[in-house]
Amino acid sequence: MEKLIEKAKKTHLLTKEELVFLLQDEKNLIPLLDAANEVRKTYVGDEIHLRGLIEFSNFCKNNCLYCGLRRDNKKLSRYRMDEETIISLAQHAKDMGFKTVVLQSGEDLHFNTERMCRIIKGIKELGLALTLSIGEKTKEEYAAYKQAGADRYLIRIETTDKKLYADNDPGMSWEERADCIRNLKALGYELGSGCLVGLPNQTLSSLADDILFFKETDCDMIGIGPFIPHPDTPLKDAEGKKLNLSLKVMALTRLLLPDINIPATTAMETLAPDGQTKALNGGANVIMPNITLTDFRQYYQLYPGKTTTGYTPDATLQKVIDKIHFLGRTVGLGYGESPHWLKEQC
Ligand code: SAH
Ligand code: SF4
Repeated sequence: MEKLIEKAKKTHLLTKEELVFLLQDEKNLIPLLDAANEVRKTYVGDEIHLRGLIEFSNFCKNNCLYCGLRRDNKKLSRYRMDEETIISLAQHAKDMGFKTVVLQSGEDLHFNTERMCRIIKGIKELGLALTLSIGEKTKEEYAAYKQAGADRYLIRIETTDKKLYADNDPGMSWEERADCIRNLKALGYELGSGCLVGLPNQTLSSLADDILFFKETDCDMIGIGPFIPHPDTPLKDAEGKKLNLSLKVMALTRLLLPDINIPATTAMETLAPDGQTKALNGGANVIMPNITLTDFRQYYQLYPGKTTTGYTPDATLQKVIDKIHFLGRTVGLGYGESPHWLKEQC
């Protein structure tokens, strides 16, 4: 085990079998987190980049079995913000000191290309870096957003196990999602992807494939989310909540993709009060505080118990900054592009 971790730290290469071997054993958790922390420090330094997350619509045309926003969840009250509200929240994010905002939503057809481009331009006029996380679109739409000024895009592959994907994402196609990821990269976006960990019937072998897929598609950011069952979805009785396994997948991702950005995900924090701290000490270098208006926030229920529900945006931010200082790290003052992406621009 020590030899494999040493190899990963030096070469940033592991075979699928080696990844599975390291994922198997619970006792590998701490050594993996420590190794990932070292690699993080060497390649991306001590800064933690903050992104202000705006969840601007919880309407979704898709029906992912794991997600509380799925269209068949009739218990959820739906909302969408108007364009002025979204832009004024971005202004608020800027006033609070954020350099990047992330616009996230379900796949809401109300926000057609024209509307999205207006919003993107409005936000870019504020001088912020802008990340979109609004799901699957055509290459032309992605090109239009880029033209309007969008810098980054987050779209998780969710799983590379095609059968698992077909079971959990009815009406969607794994190949089309993978094409979206490739199209975004080709268009020059700083590309974020990631996976869910702990889905029913997910294997360690498929998680190893996920990590290799991130490398193969040349991702610049990777978010690893522990699956948390939502009571109003078909997966309500599933086990999920695999924090330690998620942390191992995250640490191995840092070892194999040393110079990318990796968020300490909110789902990790939701599962344990120290989930985010463990992630930050195990390879993560980004936090995405939620700055959605509190009135709306309770309705953006991808999964239950999201930790920041109830806090005002400003209180959320202060809590995060205190944590960063407590860990002896610093808040990133620039746009916080991943060194991986910056290198490709030269
Ligand atoms: N609709 C867009 C963006 C919003 S969903 C998209 O799907 O890409 C953002 C992420 O939430 C998804 O990629 C998924 O990985 C995560 N998610 C959904 N349901 C979840 C659950 N029950 N537990 C943990 N993460 C979940
Ligand atoms: Fe919609 Fe995204 Fe949830 Fe799937 S994961 S139902 S696409 S919001």
